[in-house]
Amino acid sequence: MTTFNFSDQLLIWFDQSGRKNLPWQQQPTPFHVWLSEIMLQQTQVSTVIDYYHRFTQQYNDIQSLANAPIDDVLALWTGLGYYARARNLHKTAIILVQKYNSQLPDNLYELIELPGIGRSTAGAIMTLAYHQRFPILDGNVKRVLARYYAIEGWPGKKKTENKLWQCAEELLPTHRIANYIQAQMDLGATVCTRSKPKCEICPLQENCDAFQHNVPQNYPSPKPKKIIPTRQTNWLIAQLETGEVLLEHRPNNGIWGGLWSFPETDNSKNIDDFCQNKLFINVANITTQPYIRHVFSHFKLDIHPYIIQCSIDNNHIAENKSLTWYKIDAALLIGLPAPVKLFLEQLQKMRN
Ligand code: SF4
Repeated sequence: MTTFNFSDQLLIWFDQSGRKNLPWQQQPTPFHVWLSEIMLQQTQVSTVIDYYHRFTQQYNDIQSLANAPIDDVLALWTGLGYYARARNLHKTAIILVQKYNSQLPDNLYELIELPGIGRSTAGAIMTLAYHQRFPILDGNVKRVLARYYAIEGWPGKKKTENKLWQCAEELLPTHRIANYIQAQMDLGATVCTRSKPKCEICPLQENCDAFQHNVPQNYPSPKPKKIIPTRQTNWLIAQLETGEVLLEHRPNNGIWGGLWSFPETDNSKNIDDFCQNKLFINVANITTQPYIRHVFSHFKLDIHPYIIQCSIDNNHIAENKSLTWYKIDAALLIGLPAPVKLFLEQLQKMRN
């Protein structure tokens, strides 16, 4: 395995072509590096930028994030997906205030102990914020290294991942560590892209095994295919004559944890009874809406929405504290899963 010149070539390329104007690069404090790294997990830079600006306008340090209600944090995250990231961010901010004097530790092992921070994110914080010498292994770096060394095997497999970590470690330069780590991420995002890598302008082509054998598209090996199951659910979109809709606060665990969504039932045959007994509403009219398919990483969800014109059943007091009537304008400001937000926007248009 040759390590000759890898980092030098990458740093020369970074000086000419690397990204230096990303918003979080302008304030490379541990907080901003951490926040951006969490937002960038599974998400492209172009999507993250607006969210990052909105988030830091509201919470620009660990203390303000820790003091925020989780509902407000989730509301800012609406649409970015993978909501466990936001919940872990908030949990970690609270731990940092309580145990670390509102600072992120400058110790890899302590960082990894915190909710939502894995080895790669901890490595990014250690290098980009604290300029210490640690490797990272995000999706971009995995791809570059798998191609450069023609490493067989899906990177999600422990054996392949260990090999990639070993390569990442061996390649670390002894100088300009933050620029080097940023260069690795940038090269993967802009040159050594998933499809159609731009090998003709790549600084690594001379020693890149996949390029030399004309097979970059063979690396990294794809995830073994699994059939993704499809689940069904029914959304009960209860709406009063005055326009308010009924939303339910979802439990913190599971899909869309901690967000507000429409009440759901598995059984579409007894919607009337469900509304009466669980939602404490009198149904006036039910209209079926076209189904919506939402795709998660591990299953597909077919949602069957029912708009239910109704009135509140004053004979019963709802015991379910997680149910709340919202005006649509107000609902659009709280933490909602993307398809719920979209549906509410359509509902608002239908009423106007
Ligand atoms: S030469 Fe091509 S495959 Fe190899 S690292 Fe560069 S862009 Fe990726």
